[in-house]
Amino acid sequence: MKAISILGSTGSIGCNTLKVVEHLGDIRVVAMAAGRNMAVFAEQIAAFKPELVSCGDDGCAEELTRELHRLNADVPRIVTGDAGLVAVATNEQAETVVSATVGAVGFVPTLRAIEAGKRVALANKETLVMAGELMTAAAAKSGAELLPVDSEHNAIHQCLRGETKREVKRLILTASGGPFRTKSKAEIENATREEALNHPNWKMGDKITIDSATLMNKGLEVIEAKWLFGFDADEISVVVHPQSVVHSMVELVDGSIIAQMGVTDMKHAIQYALTYPERRENCLPGLDLSQLSRLDFEEPDLERFPCLALAYDALRQGGTMPAALNAANETSVQAFLDGRIKLSEIAQINAGVMQAHTSEPVADLETVLRVDAWARNAADQLLAVKATSAAISN
Ligand code: MG
Repeated sequence: MKAISILGSTGSIGCNTLKVVEHLGDIRVVAMAAGRNMAVFAEQIAAFKPELVSCGDDGCAEELTRELHRLNADVPRIVTGDAGLVAVATNEQAETVVSATVGAVGFVPTLRAIEAGKRVALANKETLVMAGELMTAAAAKSGAELLPVDSEHNAIHQCLRGETKREVKRLILTASGGPFRTKSKAEIENATREEALNHPNWKMGDKITIDSATLMNKGLEVIEAKWLFGFDADEISVVVHPQSVVHSMVELVDGSIIAQMGVTDMKHAIQYALTYPERRENCLPGLDLSQLSRLDFEEPDLERFPCLALAYDALRQGGTMPAALNAANETSVQAFLDGRIKLSEIAQINAGVMQAHTSEPVADLETVLRVDAWARNAADQLLAVKATSAAISN
């Protein structure tokens, strides 16, 4: 029986991973980590009986113990915080680690799992954006496999089966365009939290849903694609495809374009990453081609969606610039979710932080963490300036 551990089990990818595990029937979950949602975590622990679990802090651990007692479930070994995440990520029994925490918190544990030579089913794109150099170098050293769970990269991974790198002309990432694809610049600027969280095709966590509305998600995915597949910015294109049926494509040197199509459900990509190279039946309905009236493809509009341009810029500058952009974006998205800034100000804050940052080589983990902390602080300062000027004009 295969053994896995899950980082971020109560999130959208984590919950779907458990559904896939249930469906496959021959995978054991040996370790799990979740942040704060202890009621759901306790139910997951009661159902899947991992030996090791990790949660946010001691307060969470107490709450989790109470919840487990309430469910009459066995209490496994509980660890907490950053060290707890690393313990789950490097659990000896787990051959595969599903890395599905949101944002930078998953960075160190994912790196440790790669260093330990585990297969990493990677749903946390921030990890590769922050330090693709370190992740890929560690994987090359330990022999760890990186299997993308992000639907676009999972699609490209499928399209590249059997192709060599020199046969590939470019990668084509599809973007749904999000809820504001057809909206004007002014409508996007004044969009509410609810409008921005209303993604047309995918049901996901809040942070990634906002990133999808600004197309920052696609920008982060361009950077992610570079590290997963080894192509440069000029060899990675983005095309808006509102139906989200084609999950991404690869153009080969002879002009052929290979596309991967399927239903929009993350369980497909998760199962692929867990069972690769084997393909198995999954629990999803097939794609009904007769129900597709049309497939549209259009160029992304970088003027209405400047975050995508920022990501290309960060990738071209290289070094620590993508890490700075990622940290700025996490901060500005949270500020938008908290109702502190407008949607269009996310790009302004991100651009401001990039401008203030001088990129340096990604020498080691410490460099990345230092830049990450610096960029969050820089974004906070720009947010404070905005708040002050807004108060004055009111
Ligand atoms: Mg994606």
